[in-house]
Amino acid sequence: MIPVSEAIQIVCDNTPRLDAETVPLADALGRILAENIVADCDLPPFDRAQMDGYAVRAADTRNSPARLRVVGESAAGNGWHEEMHVGEAVRIMTGAPVPAGADAVQKVEVTRELNDGALVEILEAVAEGRSIVRQAAEVKTGDIVLQAGESISAEAIATLASFGYASVKVGRRPRVAVLATGTELVNVDEKPGRDQIRDSNNYTVAAYASLAGASVERLPLAGDNKEKLQQQMAHAAANAEVLITSGGVSMGVYDFTKAALIDMGTKVFFERVALRPGKPTVFGRRDDTLIFGLPGNPVSVAVTFHLFVRPALRAMQGAREFLPASESAVLLHNVKGTIERESYLPARLLTNEQGCIMAEPLKWGGSSDFVAFARATALIIIPQGTNRVDEGSYVKILRLPA
Ligand code: AMP
Ligand code: MG
Repeated sequence: MIPVSEAIQIVCDNTPRLDAETVPLADALGRILAENIVADCDLPPFDRAQMDGYAVRAADTRNSPARLRVVGESAAGNGWHEEMHVGEAVRIMTGAPVPAGADAVQKVEVTRELNDGALVEILEAVAEGRSIVRQAAEVKTGDIVLQAGESISAEAIATLASFGYASVKVGRRPRVAVLATGTELVNVDEKPGRDQIRDSNNYTVAAYASLAGASVERLPLAGDNKEKLQQQMAHAAANAEVLITSGGVSMGVYDFTKAALIDMGTKVFFERVALRPGKPTVFGRRDDTLIFGLPGNPVSVAVTFHLFVRPALRAMQGAREFLPASESAVLLHNVKGTIERESYLPARLLTNEQGCIMAEPLKWGGSSDFVAFARATALIIIPQGTNRVDEGSYVKILRLPA
């Protein structure tokens, strides 16, 4: 049995980075950048008005109200490109270029038009520089504005669009095959017979893998038949970079997953982790396919996926930050740990009036209780060797992806 941290390290050490591919900007959301994004222009590209009003010389407004001659109009997309002189003003709109000679914009609310717009009265003095964003104040041409390895958020899309990235280089999505074992399983559209249950892991793992950026193939249910397992594993090895199985890794008479993998020449890096739930997790590689043999209990699947599989899938796409990142929270009820394993307990995160994050352990029936688990938003981490943690203590938590 190896510690969780060592198991994560082994996964990282054996996970390759995939090549980059180019995708249209409209398909880039959530992908991992495989290139630095460089500004091809200044932002703003010219001195820009931040208000609707009048471009003026601040000195002309010192004794307000001040009457100025309106000599032109500068609109967004249609600027006024002459020189503005002493005693003059230019009507200006938000987003329009500020004319040469002007050094402030007074907002329209404190101005009054006279003589059918030939004159304007500036009712309040305006300070130099007011309501003007200078050229390149935000970004200079040549600046790196996003870095390779960052994930493309909805906010980052604006940056990519503004600098002309109609398409963008991103890490390729890992191809993942998902396989559920267990003679007791029937498909979701079937009515379970005696001794049977519906398969949920295939769908859960596929959902988690998609959230982590993978493209996923769900393989047909394989029962607990070693030959069938091997056939599907061979199919996965030929078509996928990652195979994720669930079930059949414990000590039962019909737990064939490990044997099937080893018979096919899989190099197994670890098969038991000091983790609760999720002790019998297997990680190996066969040629270029990474193989994760997760336990069958649906909650163990979730825990082991987040600790081991998600980091690998993110790293394959070139993500800079891919390790599980813990935070701290205040525990709302006492919990029990285990001496020989690190525990991951489902919890709901709440925020109190002071903005402090609190973790409420879920009442649940153990690692088969996926209905209770559906309410979890985080896992509480209880270190190995801890018997019990008291209410009010700080604990480490791992957020589950939303
Ligand atoms: P195993 O790891 O194969 O011993 O399975 C542990 C428990 O998880 C058993 O109660 C199984 O019935 C259950 N289980 C295994 N695979 C699935 C699955 N794909 N969907 C739902 N439950 C499963
Ligand atoms: Mg089983």
